[in-house]
Amino acid sequence: MTEPRKIRVATASLAGCFGCHMALLDMDERLIDLMDRVEFDRSPLTDIKHFRHRCDVGIIEGGCCNEENVHVLREFRRNCDVLIALGQCAIMGGLPAMRNAVMHSDEPLRECLEEAYITAREVRNKTHHIPNDPALPLLLDKVYPCSDVVKIDVLIPGCAPTGDVIFETLSQLLDGTYVGAKPDTVRFD
Ligand code: SF4
Repeated sequence: MTEPRKIRVATASLAGCFGCHMALLDMDERLIDLMDRVEFDRSPLTDIKHFRHRCDVGIIEGGCCNEENVHVLREFRRNCDVLIALGQCAIMGGLPAMRNAVMHSDEPLRECLEEAYITAREVRNKTHHIPNDPALPLLLDKVYPCSDVVKIDVLIPGCAPTGDVIFETLSQLLDGTYVGAKPDTVRFD
C-alpha cells in the first residue's frame, strides 16, 4: 500500500518585512512534527522559485505595492487550493500602506517618492534622482491588501502572528477542524 502524499505548502513574501516568515520559524520544534505531514514547495524557505506541483496551502506575507506582487499573488491563487493571508500587511496593507495616507497633491505616489528620496530632512541623496531602473517593478498607486486582488480563504492576524497561532491554524486546517481566527490570540509587538 502506498503512503498518502504529504500536504504541499507554498509561501511568498510580498510587501512585507519577512517578520511573518520569521514567525513561521517560531513554531520551533513543532516544525519537525509538521514536516511529518507537510512538504514545502515554492517558498523562500526552500529557495524554490517556481511551483513544482499544485499546492494544498499557500501562505502569503505582505500586501501588494507593485505589479510583481500582484503577479505572484495571482499565481498563488491559481496554484493553491487554500490561500492564507499571514499577518497584518497581507490582511490590510500594514506598515507599507502608510504611504496610502500621503495625498496632499494630485500625484500622491510622486509626492511620496519625492519625500522618500529627495525632500525628507534625513535623506542624503546627492543625485536628487528617484530610482527608475526598468528592472524595478512598477509601483502601484497605493498598497492593497491581498483580499483586494484575489480571494483569500484564511486570515492569520497579528504583526507578527505568534508561532502558537500559526501552528494551531495550520494543524486545524490539516485536521479539517479550522473554524476561524480567535481574536484573543492576536499579537502586535
Ligand atoms: Fe512584518 Fe508585521 Fe507585516 Fe508581518 S505583519 S510582514 S511582521 S510588518
